[in-house]
Amino acid sequence: MVKENYHIHSTYSDGKATILEYAKEAVSKGFGEIAFTEHLAIRSGCSARKLYYSMDASRLGEYIEEVRRVQEGFSELKIRAGLEVDYFPGSEPVLRDILGSYDLDFTMLSVHWIGELCLDCYKYRRAFEIAVREEGFDKFYAKYLELLEKAVETGLFKAVAHFDVAKNWGFKPSKDFSKEELRILEKIRDLGMAVEVSSKGLRNPIKEPYPTRKILEECSSLRIPIIMGTDAHNLSELDSNIESIIEYAKSVGYSQIAIFEKGKLTYSPI
Ligand SMILES: [Zn+2]
Ligand SMILES: [Zn+2]
Repeated sequence: MVKENYHIHSTYSDGKATILEYAKEAVSKGFGEIAFTEHLAIRSGCSARKLYYSMDASRLGEYIEEVRRVQEGFSELKIRAGLEVDYFPGSEPVLRDILGSYDLDFTMLSVHWIGELCLDCYKYRRAFEIAVREEGFDKFYAKYLELLEKAVETGLFKAVAHFDVAKNWGFKPSKDFSKEELRILEKIRDLGMAVEVSSKGLRNPIKEPYPTRKILEECSSLRIPIIMGTDAHNLSELDSNIESIIEYAKSVGYSQIAIFEKGKLTYSPI
């Protein structure tokens, strides 16, 4: 049995602690496996630009080296070098280039943006809430799922982060989107990808883990591998609600979690 956290941000992107600080904290909290998933958020278009919370792609080599160096000091903890990559339509060639050039253990995709609106950034919260009030959440959720499906179809990633994060500020669709969600999950299964069970939502107004129970049950019946993540941006978030998401995963029938080493998936019991 291994306790893992596959969603951690260090000072390489927008986190508040270093790789070494997280590693020491992880050992003291009983983790056996952690993956750093620094933000890589590059808007495509005529002038590709890095977003404010993203790491600089030119530091990827240095970042991976640091993870490997810190690993040497810890025999009881496995430390993986990963990325949480923002998907923007049209960014595939740039991402393919970057991701193909480095020896990463793990990459997961995120859809954080619908056009110019960030779904789960504090500084865009008001703008998003106003837009939802004016246009209704269903329209945004439909667009979110459309982008998520495109991101999955690229085949560039090993997992999907916070599957239904669009609900972050407490919104829920009024329409039934289970057909669309299932179609995406089937693509995830066909590509051999994993889905993150995330405790992030428990710290946000939605007060639920991601994905919602109905989606996680679907994952379980499709035998989609899962990873556990807290979306830690500081040391205190490293084990935030981790026990409760382990129980949540078990409650829909999961008995094992995925582990990634140099992109290769294996399982460990939970
Ligand atoms: Zn995210
Ligand atoms: Zn994150």
